[in-house]
Amino acid sequence: MIIQQKIIFFFFLGLFSASLTFGSDDLPVIVIDPGHGGTDQGATGYYKSTEKQITLTLAHCVIKHLTNKCHVILTREQDTFITLLARTEKANYVQPMAFISFHVGASFRLQPEGIGTYYWQPSQGESFFDDMLKKNDDKDVQYPPLWDHLQRYHLNSSKLLAGIIHHSILSEVDVYDRKVNGAPLFLLAGADMPAILIEIGYITRPKEEKNLLRLPFLDKIAQGIARGLEQFIEKNAYGMQTDLQY
Ligand SMILES: [Zn+2]
Repeated sequence: MIIQQKIIFFFFLGLFSASLTFGSDDLPVIVIDPGHGGTDQGATGYYKSTEKQITLTLAHCVIKHLTNKCHVILTREQDTFITLLARTEKANYVQPMAFISFHVGASFRLQPEGIGTYYWQPSQGESFFDDMLKKNDDKDVQYPPLWDHLQRYHLNSSKLLAGIIHHSILSEVDVYDRKVNGAPLFLLAGADMPAILIEIGYITRPKEEKNLLRLPFLDKIAQGIARGLEQFIEKNAYGMQTDLQY
């Protein structure tokens, strides 16, 4: 279940100084965000499983597949509550090569199913360039980028990351393809690196919930995510020339 909120406030880039894109051993750093946690259970299914449990189990499976390939930092390691803003802040502090959030879909209807991957895009009617021009019409004042604008500088690499990982997952598991989509997700808006959110199935569809409760199924998804990440890292997509510079 994806939570959308909108808060605008300033956050100066100077605070983002602890860059760990690569660790001291030259292995890339990745931040993985298991959605929900603690008092926030996320969506629940017919068999009483919770989104917060499934996302955390998947995160630990991905870590296993990335051993000796990446340093993985989790936004939460246990069943603890953490705000959306704190998750993005943690990622911005370490400046990883990629930020990947896991969620599980939910619907009031039983039919929806499948895996979908999201990158950030502005809400409808909002134009990035018009917006920036409005904010910079006073030429004597240089405004720092708004916190919720940071993801705009990584759109191309985020789309690339979303596409590679989505197709890598679908090469591992036979599920309905909900495609790669852009969405104005608050969690991703302030991420200052390639960032995506994956919805790994619908917990409200009992057949799919059963799959999500099976460790071998989650491990296959984890394998797809890990292989996709390796491909993304090989392409050295971080800081792509086509990304905007601030
Ligand atoms: Zn969710």
